[in-house]
Amino acid sequence: MKILVMNCGSSSLKYQLIDMENESVLAKGLCERIGINGSKLTHKPTGKDRFELETEMKDHGRAVELVLEALSDPEHGVIASPDEIGAIGHRVLHGGKTLTKSCVVDAHVKDVIRECFDLGPLHNPANLIGIEACEKAMPGKKNVAVFDTSFGMGMEPKAYRYAIPDKYYDEYGVRRYGFHGTSHDFVSHEALKYLNLGEKGKVIVCHLGNGASVSASVGGVCVDTSMGLTPLEGLIMGTRSGDTDPAVVQYITNKEGWTVDDTLNVLNKKSGMLALSGVSSDFRDIEAAIGEGNEKAIMAMDAYVHRLVKYIGAYNTILKGADAIVFTAGVGENGPMVRRMVCEYLEFLGVKIDEEKNKSAFGKQIVLSTDDSTIKIAVIPTNEELAIARDTLKLV
Ligand code: ADP
Repeated sequence: MKILVMNCGSSSLKYQLIDMENESVLAKGLCERIGINGSKLTHKPTGKDRFELETEMKDHGRAVELVLEALSDPEHGVIASPDEIGAIGHRVLHGGKTLTKSCVVDAHVKDVIRECFDLGPLHNPANLIGIEACEKAMPGKKNVAVFDTSFGMGMEPKAYRYAIPDKYYDEYGVRRYGFHGTSHDFVSHEALKYLNLGEKGKVIVCHLGNGASVSASVGGVCVDTSMGLTPLEGLIMGTRSGDTDPAVVQYITNKEGWTVDDTLNVLNKKSGMLALSGVSSDFRDIEAAIGEGNEKAIMAMDAYVHRLVKYIGAYNTILKGADAIVFTAGVGENGPMVRRMVCEYLEFLGVKIDEEKNKSAFGKQIVLSTDDSTIKIAVIPTNEELAIARDTLKLV
């Protein structure tokens, strides 16, 4: 079966068409600036030249039509007609307390996604628009919703409850949900197989991209994860602050004469590595600045690693000793400097890595630890689209 994977943002739509016979990507692409001037489709068919089209896309419905045309075009297409698409898998940010697993979309599922608009204001509305656009463009085909929050639903109350009155949990669903769930789920399960950890293997996954989070799992079931009610909690990220004293929000809001939303906007978009380094949110720029001796960039990197190892230390204790620590996503897969700095902290636990392997590991699956290391250290590239396609196939 061929499965179309969709990831809709407020003005964008990313897609991949995957042939599940051999899990190969037939084509992938992106629609940008949907509903804004200068909309553009970039379509990359495997084994053929890329195709770019600048044309008006007034809404996601039009974007889906253009994607289907590109996929079935005689020249740059990869299928004869959209009829070949067996089902559509959608990345959905928030399933709230109710939708704890991937599911086939029906009226109830759409209602819950809608009820969660408050919890995922930037993503859930766009995710629902994407689903409805596909329902319209491909009537009769099944749509599956795969939630970023599902993995975190494996946590027990002691990990997911905030220590605040019940009312806020019962009435408003205020709890820790965790995000990047599809990635943590995929990578922790891959780790169990790749590193021969057995069914109850204890894994810490460091998903270090623009957004970043850590998870602890046993046998692929989440025990704890660093993001919370929203993706703002936890690690220092590209532009997000991660953990702060909540009173920081009140203090800055009062000092600046702002609203809470104004302050949260700063914590989400103008903080993190961007703020600390004064250089960029992108690790390539930060590493270049460190190479030039930029002191703010050096401190930002130290702070990033400090926060990360604090979580790893906590999760290693929660797991009563992890079997493996795995790095994934942009920085995790391509950042030898961060991996080396983290592993240096862990030397006291008996962690040892082969620095030559570390230096040459870019975007590939590899074990970095030496045979006598007490904890296995590896890089496992994440593949959220494949994880979504696998769940979709299972459900249809
Ligand atoms: P997201 O999906 O959250 O947007 P990614 O997983 O693509 O993020 O990760 C983006 C980050 O990965 C950026 O900070 C980028 O600098 C970093 N990155 C990508 N390639 C490299 C590299 N070769 N060296 C260091 N960092 C890299």
